[in-house]
Amino acid sequence: MNILILGGGGREHSLAWAVSQNPKADRLVVAPGNAGIAAIAECAPLDIEDAAAVLSFANDMAAELVIIGPEAPLAAGVADALRGAGIPTFGPSKAAAELEASKSFAKEVLDAAGAPTAAWERFTDAKSACAYIEAQGAPIVVKADGLAAGKGVTVAMTVEEATAAVEDMFGGAFGAAGAEVVIEEFMTGEEASFFVLCDGEEFLPLGTAQDHKRVGEGDTGPNTGGMGAYSPAPVMTDEVTQKTIDQIVKPTLAEMARRGAPYQGVLFVGLMIENGKPRVVEYNVRFGDPECQTLMMRLGAQALDVIQAAAEGRLAQAQVNWAEDHAITVVMAAKGYPGSYTKGTVIKGLDALPEDSTHMVFHAGTTMQGADLTATGGRVLNVTARGATLAEAHKEAYAMLGRIDWPEGFSRSDIGWRALKG
Ligand code: ATP
Repeated sequence: MNILILGGGGREHSLAWAVSQNPKADRLVVAPGNAGIAAIAECAPLDIEDAAAVLSFANDMAAELVIIGPEAPLAAGVADALRGAGIPTFGPSKAAAELEASKSFAKEVLDAAGAPTAAWERFTDAKSACAYIEAQGAPIVVKADGLAAGKGVTVAMTVEEATAAVEDMFGGAFGAAGAEVVIEEFMTGEEASFFVLCDGEEFLPLGTAQDHKRVGEGDTGPNTGGMGAYSPAPVMTDEVTQKTIDQIVKPTLAEMARRGAPYQGVLFVGLMIENGKPRVVEYNVRFGDPECQTLMMRLGAQALDVIQAAAEGRLAQAQVNWAEDHAITVVMAAKGYPGSYTKGTVIKGLDALPEDSTHMVFHAGTTMQGADLTATGGRVLNVTARGATLAEAHKEAYAMLGRIDWPEGFSRSDIGWRALKG
């Protein structure tokens, strides 16, 4: 089978790794890929947000499955173009991708579905937004409506902070993404991510994870794209999972179908759980990065079977055989990230590390320069291990990390602390 994966981060390396474990995978191309992906698949330069270019590339390689990693090509309608040409595609249509691309759209769907989420209002001018904040008081959450790469959300502890965020957004800090602002009730509880595969009609739960967004130990400091993750999430007990399916997933998928935008791909449900009650924080229309790396490490070859079933509308017959296992990913980032950092530094020691069904280093921002592996992004490596317990996976991952020679890199030493403590 000829498979094309779009993207070039740690998420796509883990997808490519899991897919390549499956004997069904003959030719695997990742566009644009990265230095780690190049060791297990062909990499090809391609503008993955250009639907016509992607379709022509997929036709040329006679792709029988296209897996879309990041949200930008989805929001640009790349899945529509591929599916329209009869190519089985994993990823939602442009209309369904609005669940992530517009926060007010997601909130409207949630309300219509009767799914539990924070109370909210939408604003198109600063004056009425600030009046609403004054009336509600703090803490309160201010969000740019559109895609802002995780930076468009301010969890404000004071009214002043919230109104400053509103002024920023309407002042153009996020361009068109901030032309509309959503203001939400502040929710308390523990966050977890729940992943569900969907084929337009049926769905299949694909596991849970928790990530660490803050750069500093103990979940402190500025937000990042994610400094680590682990799966499963202990807070997602069977009871919470069942409530999430019944109260959130099923009614949301039904509402999307009712709107003529049936959901196909992976639905990432960001949850806040308090006293056993799940509420939706956000929807994403793709796998989380680095959560995906922990899921792929646990799924291995069967990831391709279920992703293909979702893309071909055959999820009713699909299932996942979970082992009683745990996986953890520790991100190594360039010193200075999420602020400014140096590019082009050399990473050594990866060749001596184990690469097997329980140990992998997934690459995010790496490039080969001659014989040297160099860091070209903020988040650079995802050191991932699997074990019978989270403690075992944690020990293995940190043992690998200790053998990586990259003085210009850093990582958090406490990934998984909450789950390990409990
Ligand atoms: P990302 O891309 O980083 O996931 P995003 O821009 O899509 O972020 P959200 O996930 O909606 O934004 O919000 C980012 C973070 O802000 C959440 O993970 C959560 O910690 C916090 N947050 C968002 N909404 C609320 C809320 N209503 N109450 C409390 N915290 C919230």
